[in-house]
Amino acid sequence: MTCPICNSTETEKEISGILNYYKCGICDVSFNTRKEKQIYNPKITLMQKLIWNIPYSYYNSERLDFIKQLEKGKVLDIGSGNGKFLYMLKLKGWETQGVEPIKNYAEFASKSLGIKTFNEFFEDFETDEKFDLITLLFTIDHTNDPLCVFEKIHSMLKSGGHLFIASPFAVYHEQHNFIFTEKTFDFLLEKFSFVKIKSEINYKPVRNLFILAQNK
Ligand SMILES: [Zn+2]
Repeated sequence: MTCPICNSTETEKEISGILNYYKCGICDVSFNTRKEKQIYNPKITLMQKLIWNIPYSYYNSERLDFIKQLEKGKVLDIGSGNGKFLYMLKLKGWETQGVEPIKNYAEFASKSLGIKTFNEFFEDFETDEKFDLITLLFTIDHTNDPLCVFEKIHSMLKSGGHLFIASPFAVYHEQHNFIFTEKTFDFLLEKFSFVKIKSEINYKPVRNLFILAQNK
């Protein structure tokens, strides 16, 4: 099986069955052989909507803390969900936009939080704007073509703009097409001309990796 990230054939079957993952010996990614994007499509309850209206969120505040050194500007959140992270960035003075394929989430973000949200997949999203910051939080694992996503991010960032990635550790899940490690992200960042600025392990809401990189 050829690795869809680095094109190596040094891959080994890692898990068989419904999940059917392979592991790449070169870039360290785990991948399955499905071709579709995977999205959560939850029913959204009134209680969730009420909770989402509260600006504070215990894991979003750690994410904010990780990028507090950045100068405020235009931010795009890919897979922006209910819009809450963008809402918190907006309160800090950022100019915010989101792209979210799930209609219920996108509508909540637009109507209840006032966050400009495009209801589509990032792969289909088109804009002439360039961003100071693009955030990719628990999103890249669900895509079917991370190379396309990284290339598009690179093209939409200003020169010197930043990319903030948060990615869960080793979550083999029917909705995760890929499982990344820091080594895989290092490969992708180098391939698309990013410089890694810092990384750290975070535990909210699950064990996950934070990476901040800059567009060269
Ligand atoms: Zn690989």
